[in-house]
Amino acid sequence: MKRDAIDKQDNPLLQRWTEDLGLPPFERIEAGHFEAAFDVALAAHRAEIEGIATRPEPPTFDNTAAALDRGGRLLARIEPVFRSLCASHTSPALQAVERRLAPRLAAHWASIQRDPRLFARLDALVQRGDALSLEAEQRRLLQRLHLDARLAGAQLAPAAQERLGQIVERQAALMTQFAQNVLAEEQQCLWLEGEADLAGLPSYVRDAARAAAGEHGRPQSWAITLSRSSVVPFLTFSERRSLRERAFRMWKGRGANAGEYDNRPLARELLQLRTEQARLLGFANYADYALVDRMAGQPAAVFELLQAVWEPARRRAAQEQAQLEQLVREDGGPGKLEPWDWHFYAERVRRSRYALDDAEIKPYFVLERMLAALFDCAQRLFGVRFVERPEAPRYHPDVRVFEVLAASGSRVGAFLFDNFARPGKRSGAWMSALRWQSRAADEALPIIVNNSNFARGAPGEPVLLSLDDLRTLFHEFGHGLHGLLSNVTYERLSGTRVLRDFVELPSQLFEHWALEPAVLERHARHCRTGEPMPQALAEGVLRARQFNQGFETVGYTASALVDMILHGLADVQDLDIAAFERETLARLGMPGTIAPYHYLAHFQHLFAGGYAAGYYVYLWAEVLDADGYQAFVEAGDPFDAAVAGRLLRFIYSRGGALDPAEAYRAFRGRDATVGPLLAKRGLVEGAPPA
Ligand SMILES: [Zn+2]
Repeated sequence: MKRDAIDKQDNPLLQRWTEDLGLPPFERIEAGHFEAAFDVALAAHRAEIEGIATRPEPPTFDNTAAALDRGGRLLARIEPVFRSLCASHTSPALQAVERRLAPRLAAHWASIQRDPRLFARLDALVQRGDALSLEAEQRRLLQRLHLDARLAGAQLAPAAQERLGQIVERQAALMTQFAQNVLAEEQQCLWLEGEADLAGLPSYVRDAARAAAGEHGRPQSWAITLSRSSVVPFLTFSERRSLRERAFRMWKGRGANAGEYDNRPLARELLQLRTEQARLLGFANYADYALVDRMAGQPAAVFELLQAVWEPARRRAAQEQAQLEQLVREDGGPGKLEPWDWHFYAERVRRSRYALDDAEIKPYFVLERMLAALFDCAQRLFGVRFVERPEAPRYHPDVRVFEVLAASGSRVGAFLFDNFARPGKRSGAWMSALRWQSRAADEALPIIVNNSNFARGAPGEPVLLSLDDLRTLFHEFGHGLHGLLSNVTYERLSGTRVLRDFVELPSQLFEHWALEPAVLERHARHCRTGEPMPQALAEGVLRARQFNQGFETVGYTASALVDMILHGLADVQDLDIAAFERETLARLGMPGTIAPYHYLAHFQHLFAGGYAAGYYVYLWAEVLDADGYQAFVEAGDPFDAAVAGRLLRFIYSRGGALDPAEAYRAFRGRDATVGPLLAKRGLVEGAPPA
């Protein structure tokens, strides 16, 4: 037998997976198996694509759109496993494989999207429109594939396609450089030289500053680095105003210092390339191009939302500022509030008004009980049960596997919980799929993974969650349910594979149940006494959600507005980033006491991530989640069966098979309004101070 034939037979990625839930044989998969398996999978997919592109018969929905969706089954099986392991359980060997495979996979997908032969077939179908008599989901798939191809430049002449390829490649290099520059600038330190400089800092901030100093080679000192997690606690607690000012100015200046880490020329070149890219594809500017693929549809809809929030947020921030200034005067402090003072005085107000202490709250949020709370909410809303399968294969002993069953007893899919931080696992929290649901492909049931990075408890001690952790847990489980409850025909439209300003609706909506009184009463029990949370504490937690929301909303919305205005410019040839930013903020009426969440020279969402003309999406989804939850409030029951039924039918199970605006309307009976968001954040005029 030939050598590669033996390899193939021994490669578990290329064998049939017979495990009951459809899980991969994790215990037999090694980093070395992936490249050989991808060789086979990519070649097979390539051949299928050639078959579709060169078919002599005229295009039909089935021989083109549906064929593209069901193509590449082997790739659809192994690529999610590869990506999941790279994120959750990597190793130097797997990282080396990833570096070699990442460009190959990117090139593979790009070549399909840019293929002019496929585009011609899809376009012919789109031109025939209603004459095709497609069902709604079929129409969505066709539109989706057509738009993917159009935005990738499949319709362009070869020279323009080549230029587009150069633009995309250059953008990737600039974005990597931009991120690395921010990382380097954040390693600058504000050095604290003894007790006087540490005044006001709680022990956890001192410990972190000590550790940071050690990492920078001065273990006997203390250092505040310029990452958000280091600076914000310092601004919140340091009693040394001059040091707060220095920390703030250094933090604000990241990426805008002349020298090797200067991001301003990079940002300008990126904007020039983006404008050229948009023009090549037939759009007036980058914002128009980006918004075509969003629920908002066009920049005007985004500006309408941002404006609706901007004025109430500024009003509330002005009230908050007056309160802080009062405190400053009582203190005999500085005559004028400055941006480096806000966190500090706001923390004083928070402490005096809510007396909320993490140490008092955490014992009520035991991880194990909160997992039960998630499953309980999912069952009461959507009728699904989670049954643990301790014998099922997993990629790490931390992972817990559940079979998910419908009320009828039929299987919905499988769900993996991977909750703890460990080496080899990316930071943060996220949802991913080992298999997407679809009815067209032969392997139809979803396998969904939720990852987070909670710290393990001491041996024998329960794992306790902060309010932030709790929100994260419910948020990611909302994404998880969006993947699990998916009930669509085509994989391209499955679960969370929806538009970027819609994808956070199921996750942000689910956060509302975390602090729902009925859920707290049943599940938030003290880790030692088993007692429910005292009423006063529960109310304090709920009330504190509106605290300082004028400040927060102004900071976020300012960044979202600057992003949209910047990417809507038609001419960026001689743009001075810093001057543009200064003038725009002044024109918007940005309060001098508040800094935007991000200044452009370190705004990684825009220049190192996928959020150019898209920073608004969090707020967009929040309008939907606040308005959507209001449907349960109006029904008088957080688990109202009729509302939950519509939520499942039109949102959680429909993936991208429905137009998102239509889906929302079908669920809610009308379009979303901004009122519930303003109320949730306490921005309604005349509302009492939070
Ligand atoms: Zn999310």
